Amino acid sequence: MTEWWRRWRRKRALERRPIPDALWELTLLRFPFLAARDAVDLLALREMSTLFLAGKEFYGARGLEVSDEMAVAIAAQACLPALKLGLHWLDGFVGIVVHEDAVVARREIEDEDGIVHAFDEELSGEAMSGGPVMLAWRDVDEAGLSATDGYNVVVHEFAHVIDMRSGVTAGLDTVDPQSDRGVWLNALADEYERFAEAVDRGEETFLDPYGAEALEEFFAVAAEAFFVAPHELLREQSRVYGLLKDFFRQDPATCPA
Ligand SMILES: [Zn+2]
Repeated sequence: MTEWWRRWRRKRALERRPIPDALWELTLLRFPFLAARDAVDLLALREMSTLFLAGKEFYGARGLEVSDEMAVAIAAQACLPALKLGLHWLDGFVGIVVHEDAVVARREIEDEDGIVHAFDEELSGEAMSGGPVMLAWRDVDEAGLSATDGYNVVVHEFAHVIDMRSGVTAGLDTVDPQSDRGVWLNALADEYERFAEAVDRGEETFLDPYGAEALEEFFAVAAEAFFVAPHELLREQSRVYGLLKDFFRQDPATCPA
């Protein structure tokens, strides 16, 4: 696609289906961590959300109707991590499946003796490589309130989308430790190890203990806090904050609390 064509399409999407003022204002009101951003960021976020809505497809599961209000709420939170990276970082999928509430998924794991254990896992979101992103509307809807705990399902899943596209947390064994990426990734892995040990010891952690599952989950859980409770993350885990600041090219703790 030529640059001219790309710009034309972008301009057309912004003109044809802009997010109405009232709906945008409502979205900011419902999610204070968005409203805390300065005017420049908010204009960019609104434009990116408009383009996101033009390029993605929403599906309501089991007859759930995805209203404009719901779609804009999801788009704005999904674009937040990509704000300074660019919308192309979210190119890895098209569909977003919205469930009314958390989904119970049947999981099976095989232990060392080859015995398969089945268990139910409750999912409020899921992002699969190349597949649709799944979100539970109840969790998205409550994101304004749960932000104080550093919890945000949309940011979590879209941090995975960004990670899967670019291999943010991949290649720890193969990366050159002297390279910029190697230094960054090893620092993140160090923080992950320390966090997983604290969780193992049963310590109270500011970040969701689910982050101890794997490095990519630590990245996604830390991204949630970075975007919705940046002041707390900076205070509790300043090194993690700094690593995410470098990666996402944003410094949300400079916004008013
Ligand atoms: Zn995850």
